[in-house]
Amino acid sequence: MPWIDPSDKIKGLPVYPFVKLEQIKAEAKKQGKDLIDFGIGDPDFATPDFILKAMDQALRAPENHKYPTSAGMMSFREAASRFMERRFKVKVGPEKVVALIGSKEGIAHFPLGYLNPGDLTLVPSPAYPVYRIGTLFAGGESYIFPLKEELGFLPDLDAIPKGFLSRAKMLFLNYPNNPTGAVCDLSFLEKAVYYAKKSHFWVVQDAAYSEVCFDGYLSPSILEVKGGEECAIEFHSLSKTFNMTGWRLGFAVGSKEAIDTLAKVKSNIDSGVFQAVQAAGIAALDQGDQAIREMRQRYQRRRDLLADALDQAGLKYLKPKATFYFWVKTPKGISSEQMAGALLDQAGIVVAPGSGYGPEGEGYIRFALVVKESLMEEAVNRLKGLDL
Ligand SMILES: *Cc1c(COP(=O)(O)O)cnc(C)c1O
Repeated sequence: MPWIDPSDKIKGLPVYPFVKLEQIKAEAKKQGKDLIDFGIGDPDFATPDFILKAMDQALRAPENHKYPTSAGMMSFREAASRFMERRFKVKVGPEKVVALIGSKEGIAHFPLGYLNPGDLTLVPSPAYPVYRIGTLFAGGESYIFPLKEELGFLPDLDAIPKGFLSRAKMLFLNYPNNPTGAVCDLSFLEKAVYYAKKSHFWVVQDAAYSEVCFDGYLSPSILEVKGGEECAIEFHSLSKTFNMTGWRLGFAVGSKEAIDTLAKVKSNIDSGVFQAVQAAGIAALDQGDQAIREMRQRYQRRRDLLADALDQAGLKYLKPKATFYFWVKTPKGISSEQMAGALLDQAGIVVAPGSGYGPEGEGYIRFALVVKESLMEEAVNRLKGLDL
């Protein structure tokens, strides 16, 4: 018996998918397995040097050792604003930006700003788990809508029953998409804004992979949509763009009303991002274009290698135009967990079972392109030898 029972909310949650994956990996390693790890979407590249230098300098300035302001330094918010203008041609002032301790933090806290008990959010499946869990922690409920392969993993917003649309306070979107690797174009975002205005809810667009794009594709921002700024908030992250997952830095940008509410929630929970980390973020956002180009080229090379390997193994997938994920269909009759288990047992290859991303993820596994090119050849050979 525990000393004190955890809350119903916490007890009701499954183990966060990656915690389970870490346990399985640790077990296989103990048995002496030589693993090739396509599991967790954590870049294996180092943070670019010019960002380290900016951090190093800022680290030594005593004024940065104090409590930051919870909304973020004005200079960081201005850099985010400049980035949005350069990359997406949208003008959003720094008053419409709030710094985040990684975008996960902001996404998880945003529902606290708007949901009363029983209030509804619209959440895709498969999806990053935080949309549903953030809703749950805020006392809300989620209507789960499917992302289907035949629609390019875009939601069919017309198929969401009117009653749920009108009750909803927010719609979560994530393009480029984790885990499916799907992308959307501006017309889809226009449609989301149209629905938001008609049914009166926030569009919460998670743009964590906005910069991880290939073949000349560039993902749009929902703030490019006319009127988007009135009904949308977009979450950006430096984690995947600049190999900064450990630094914990992101920002939200969009409706001033939504940004103010999120800043109010945060001012009551955390005290903001270490200012030296924000200084590093300013350097990244202002001077990172070359680093972004290199990052894209590296992932694109790996993507092409993995695509060949999967072709040779006879597996079906969508070749991603963005993100570093491959969403691969399991052969008929084999579940996500079985397939992930077989890859681990037969080939020492770690992947994430799709079922960890919600019921619609069953029947898929996810490969993250976080394996070095030098190991990719070995991975390709192992995949070719699979017997499923
Ligand atoms: C990685 C990821 C994030 C969050 O990253 P942070 O490190 O918290 O900024 C958000 N959404 C999706 C879909 C992700 O994959």
